[in-house]
Amino acid sequence: MPQPPHSSIPPSAGDPHREGSPGEPPKSSSEGLSPVLSPGSHSRSDRPPASQLPDPMSDPFVRGSEYLNGLRQKALTSDAIAGGEDIIDRIRICTWIGEHIDALNQELAECLCACHQCFPTQDRRAIEIFAAPIAPEFGIDALCNILLDPVVILIDVGRTAPADWLSIVVHEYAHAHLKSPGHDRPFFEVLTHLCLGLGLPPPVVEGMDPQTMEATLRNWPHCGSTADSLAFWMGRE
Ligand SMILES: [Zn+2]
Repeated sequence: MPQPPHSSIPPSAGDPHREGSPGEPPKSSSEGLSPVLSPGSHSRSDRPPASQLPDPMSDPFVRGSEYLNGLRQKALTSDAIAGGEDIIDRIRICTWIGEHIDALNQELAECLCACHQCFPTQDRRAIEIFAAPIAPEFGIDALCNILLDPVVILIDVGRTAPADWLSIVVHEYAHAHLKSPGHDRPFFEVLTHLCLGLGLPPPVVEGMDPQTMEATLRNWPHCGSTADSLAFWMGRE
């Protein structure tokens, strides 16, 4: 899948700069960014507005819709991103995302930052992370697009309890760090390093044949899935 031009990524698609620079304050927002990302950052009040037209990005539905469009460019395949079965669901999902996505992405950015802390600065790969409603038919809680640079991790926070978000980020981070989809010995070593560094139980694969080891690592750290992930994205937890 070709990489989309940079300009096609909507400004509401998270804060891709924050995770690479732990401890730094967020970069100041530039003109044109969504008001959600830059509340009160401009002193426009002392001059009359150029236009009385409302900013479309001030509408949660528009923000959510743009965010999902941005995710479709980052997923391995655009149909991996759920949009709702019908127009009512679509409106609900987009509106809920427009209202809540920045807080969700901030929590994921903190998980990503914790993973980065397990490696020296020079060994940290450029990685972006976003909360995403992954289409239920894909049957996955998260995905890692290693074909993009920065590597992109999408986490369906609707399918996983908040207590398990770090675990699921750790698993995808290991793929992103290695730029590999495999659940092999190098994956085992990076995953073990992350688990030990972050206080999670490390995987145990001693004496396992390669198939059993692969199956064990595929689901490590273990996270329970919720039955109806889209209910979360419609605010019906
Ligand atoms: Zn995996």
